[in-house]
Amino acid sequence: MEVSFYTSKREYLEKKSEFQQAIDKVLENGIQTLGKEVKDLEMSVEEFSGAKHAIGVASGTDALVIASDILGFKNGKEVITSPFTFLASTSCIAKHGGKPVFVDIDEETFNIDTTKIEERITKNTVGILPIHLFCQMANMDDIMKYAKEHNLYVLEDAAEAFGMKWKGNGESYRTAGTIGDMGIYSFFPTKTLGGYGDGGMVTTNSDELAELTKIFRVHGAKEKYHYDYIGYNSRLDTMQAAILLVKMKYINKAIEKRETISNWYRDRLKDIEYIKLPKVKGDQKPVYYVFNLLCEKRDELNKYLKGNGIGTNIYYPMPLHLQKCFSYLGYKEGDFPIAERTCKEILALPIYPEITEEEVDYVCKKIKDFYKK
Ligand SMILES: *Cc1c(COP(=O)(O)O)cnc(C)c1O
Repeated sequence: MEVSFYTSKREYLEKKSEFQQAIDKVLENGIQTLGKEVKDLEMSVEEFSGAKHAIGVASGTDALVIASDILGFKNGKEVITSPFTFLASTSCIAKHGGKPVFVDIDEETFNIDTTKIEERITKNTVGILPIHLFCQMANMDDIMKYAKEHNLYVLEDAAEAFGMKWKGNGESYRTAGTIGDMGIYSFFPTKTLGGYGDGGMVTTNSDELAELTKIFRVHGAKEKYHYDYIGYNSRLDTMQAAILLVKMKYINKAIEKRETISNWYRDRLKDIEYIKLPKVKGDQKPVYYVFNLLCEKRDELNKYLKGNGIGTNIYYPMPLHLQKCFSYLGYKEGDFPIAERTCKEILALPIYPEITEEEVDYVCKKIKDFYKK
């Protein structure tokens, strides 16, 4: 059996006519940047997330760079973040000369260990950049408390966190990306809300920050050809917005299905002594964008699964403090032992709404077979 890590083909076949209608409509309306569908998607995401403003941009990476620029994560200012993440969460700080200051992660959630943040705050610190990874949010109560006490901006990298909820089981929950000063989503194809190409969004509850984001995405022009800032050309593509609007109709179902699949995995894998399953900490509602294991003999298991037709992924094989591009920051091996160890043990299994129980059965059987050998 072949089980791909991710495929858009099944979704496409299920929703083919809806996608085609949506795309035809964009074409019929004629060429337009930031067209009607972009505005409709922004409104739809505002409603879904509870953010006062959602502003479509070209990618999650651009969303991070623009937000970092606006919040002043630049020119030697320090921003506290985690080294266990995708490059873009840190390169957005470094891009304009800001200084990423890393702290280690929590060994169970893989998110920033908030108990280690305060000791790294200096006169030069301007912000905290938490990343809500894989299935759960970083401890936003702690982060907002430190931010308030030390007058820092918070930029939430919610690229992977569409639909995650803090205090998610109560009435007064807040969604990922809407608690800090600014947040960002990525619509990269594999993400929980993914397009068929690149896309991203900035969220904020501040009218002023929203206005700046809108100006920055069109070259810094408040009025056409009048530039108040040196901005970007970073618009969400109208065609992608049209596709994403179709997917928004099914987003709650897709999130529920991811939860069901995660339970299939938990059920079948719970008795294997060589692996650890994800643990969700704090009062929050997870969304299973990624289903990870921590496992013994990770590389051998990974090879075995691949040899049996199963797609896997390693998020992330190397922490950012050890990457060549950040060597100038002066970190060395051993600085963040939990992040470093996690990179050696973590393995992501296939999870997407259209995967079948039979396929999950097969993946779990192969994992069991591997450890029986
Ligand atoms: C995917 C991702 C990004 C970047 O998003 P793109 O849309 O691919 O640019 C940033 N941060 C994290 C944690 C991500 O997973």
